[in-house]
Amino acid sequence: MKIRELIKTFQPYKVLEGDYKIWLDKNENPFDLPPEIKEEIFEELRKTPFNRYPHITSMPLREAIAEFYGVSPKNVAVGNGGDELLSYLIKLFDGDYIVTTPPTFAMYYFYAKLNGIPVVEVPLNERFIMNGDEIAEKSQKASIVFITSPNNPTGNTQPREEILKVLDTGAPVVIDEAYAEFSEKSYIDLLDEYENLIILRTFSKAFSLAGVRAGYLLASEEIVDALYRIKSPFSLNVLTMITAKVMLNHYDLVMERVNYIIKERERIYQEFKEYAYPSEANFLLMKLDAYEFLLERGIVVRKLDGRLQGHIRVTIGKKEENDELIKVLKEFVENVA
Ligand code: PMP
Repeated sequence: MKIRELIKTFQPYKVLEGDYKIWLDKNENPFDLPPEIKEEIFEELRKTPFNRYPHITSMPLREAIAEFYGVSPKNVAVGNGGDELLSYLIKLFDGDYIVTTPPTFAMYYFYAKLNGIPVVEVPLNERFIMNGDEIAEKSQKASIVFITSPNNPTGNTQPREEILKVLDTGAPVVIDEAYAEFSEKSYIDLLDEYENLIILRTFSKAFSLAGVRAGYLLASEEIVDALYRIKSPFSLNVLTMITAKVMLNHYDLVMERVNYIIKERERIYQEFKEYAYPSEANFLLMKLDAYEFLLERGIVVRKLDGRLQGHIRVTIGKKEENDELIKVLKEFVENVA
């Protein structure tokens, strides 16, 4: 037996575990589903046979998402989290490499490395804005381009004119909109015009379903058809499909909570304007080397490295959690920073 050398270069995905009181590290929604919505889900589950395989291409959930957006189910693919969809997208198209725009989400790199696909980086500028011209130039030989808007971990969206420059090359472009519900901006409208556009979304953030694992993408029929040629059959289980479907019917509640989180985000931003970057997501990037200081006081945030060394990414929590965060961070700013 011999484990491949490539595999030995990977470290298992690590997150901090332990007995901390406030968790603001994974961009989760601080609100679980209310008991009456859980009951509604349980009611659906009671009627569902568990001994049978789910629909082979997850049609019930694809249909519900298609109806939600007014598109055809043939334009919708669903995955076990957005991450699963990324793992397929990276393999669908011909080309020499993928293009990313660091600092950005780590999973594009993970899947590229795993599949032996080179990564060409076109870094975001000092305000974390993409360089559309340079990405367009690199797109000629790219299999796929990843643009994240709002971007993780910086929180900003990307300008339409820069995105159009890339889309106009005809190269496959993923706009990863995992956090779009927390922003005024989405590029879903461009799907009508661009067959090469893929919009990636997730139920993990605005919809409070990180534990359920459901993501989706909207794209041309040709792309969705190609993806289902290589996707593992039955990969979305009935529990996930039913839960995500029920939550689509509670969009009012989802948006009520999104608005709460946006208000809290702006409150924290105002307190730390000097250190925080404007955000259109459910987190804030801050130029404060406060990871250990916060951890020692029971608050877990995300520590960043590389170009963002000395920065933290803070997920917006419930009001009480944010109050505690503000209190402890002020202490840090006054005594340490
Ligand atoms: N894209 C971005 C930018 C993200 O931050 C995340 C979640 N961390 C995802 C995609 C995927 O989320 P999930 O697999 O939970 O759907």
